[in-house]
Amino acid sequence: MSSKKRSSGSKNNRTYKTKPPKGLGIRPSKSLGQNFLIDDEIIEAIVEGSGVTEDSLVIEIGPGTGALTLPLAERAGHLIAVELDERMLEGLRVKTFSLGNVEIIHEDILKVDIAGLAAEKMEEFGLKDLRIVGNLPYYITTPIIMKLLEAGTGAESITVMMQKEVGDRIAAAPGTKLSGAISYSVHYYSEVSEITDVSRECFYPVPKVDSVVLRMDLLEEHPVKVKDEELFFRCIKAGFSQRRKTLLNSLMSLGDYDKSTISEALDAAGIEHERRAESLDMGEFARLADSLLEARIAG
Ligand code: SAM
Repeated sequence: MSSKKRSSGSKNNRTYKTKPPKGLGIRPSKSLGQNFLIDDEIIEAIVEGSGVTEDSLVIEIGPGTGALTLPLAERAGHLIAVELDERMLEGLRVKTFSLGNVEIIHEDILKVDIAGLAAEKMEEFGLKDLRIVGNLPYYITTPIIMKLLEAGTGAESITVMMQKEVGDRIAAAPGTKLSGAISYSVHYYSEVSEITDVSRECFYPVPKVDSVVLRMDLLEEHPVKVKDEELFFRCIKAGFSQRRKTLLNSLMSLGDYDKSTISEALDAAGIEHERRAESLDMGEFARLADSLLEARIAG
């Protein structure tokens, strides 16, 4: 398992140094996933763990009231904060104005051309690396992570907080019990490490779940070679879409392969028909996708 623990900080029953943002004048929005970080130690662990230096361009996802924005900007060359909630913008501008290296973009992170924006700003400010950081809005954790991994942003690392259960799945080595389709994507593109566990008590308002901060260091070379990346990920998705079914059956949901072709491809890849997706490691899925591709070409 490539997931390794940097530090663990079980934060139950702690007392806060940072007070809940009273007088915020803004009612936290549940639908925008607004649970604000109020624990100084966790804030420090994220900033420290993100590896941000004065040579870094930071893109922060969902700055909210700015708990991470200020300490990150103090270390960074330049910081771009992308926030969807218009109510947060004025407060953020006031808080960060004197630093002089913070830009706030009012936008949905899923709509931002991160690669284009990063390339432009790195050149403008003569910066060396891109670091993406955020306490994610949990309702879109998976789409954000998939976008960051697939967009080819050239980022050095992605350091993000998410719900503990989701983080455990993401960090799980492919082919182990906890793994899901997203584990394969994350481990295909990056090396994952855990920065810290975070108790629900470290947020205001207190959410119903605990959290974890993970750092993904983007790899220059993928751990497996595949002939058709799209087919590789389609196979993984199909396998996990019905994870209790055998591969022979779950792969039927690919739609463009009949049972005998899937059966031949499984044989060619040396994978027993009765196995389930969660038992395959990344190399086996790569062999399977390559065999299916060959079956398509041959057919
Ligand atoms: N960074 C702050 C902190 O740690 O206290 C706030 C984190 S809060 C969990 C998530 C933030 O993401 C909120 O400020 C929310 O408004 C913002 N957000 C929600 N959906 C978003 C989206 N699609 N694009 C950008 N920001 C979003």
